[in-house]
Amino acid sequence: MVEITCPSCGRKTELIALEYEIPYFGKILLTSINCGCGFKHNDCIVLGVKEPVRYKMSISSNKLFTKVIRSTSGTIKIPELGVEIEPGPASQAFVTNVEGVLERVRDIVLMAMRWRAEEGDSSAVERCEYILKTIDDVIEGKKELTLVLEDPFGNSLIASEEAEKTNLTPEEVRKLKTGLTVLELSGLSEDEIQS
Ligand SMILES: [Zn+2]
Repeated sequence: MVEITCPSCGRKTELIALEYEIPYFGKILLTSINCGCGFKHNDCIVLGVKEPVRYKMSISSNKLFTKVIRSTSGTIKIPELGVEIEPGPASQAFVTNVEGVLERVRDIVLMAMRWRAEEGDSSAVERCEYILKTIDDVIEGKKELTLVLEDPFGNSLIASEEAEKTNLTPEEVRKLKTGLTVLELSGLSEDEIQS
């Protein structure tokens, strides 16, 4: 344990760091700050060579338990659904699996759907319903989707030999959000479920 200054209240608090072994990838470091003032922050750092990366994998019901590690700088995309979960100021790192990613997308879409329904935007509501139905179909093994995870700092990964790993070009890196700024592309932002 390391003592650090809380970025929120300025008092001393503890940074907890845990090493975690990922098959095929080596070690990652999970860090966690949980200050008495209510400030919380989790992140993860891949130990080893880091470069701007993109992981891409076809996901279906037999991939639900594949581990996904997303650092605060990771962007998750499901191109077929037009879904992007981008880093924002309230972003937290998470270690989950493919099913956990789909559950997060479901939560964000459900919330977006309620807002759009209140606004009377029926075409947006229909699109949300389509996304929710497609997620159910993937979990039930009726459909496949593509999961893309991009990280300009190389701290995120899909832990599967079947995930195709490529390096991001400098232009692609420039277009990615790093967690330092927030912009909404497709109207689905992770901060919406956290605020
Ligand atoms: Zn604090």
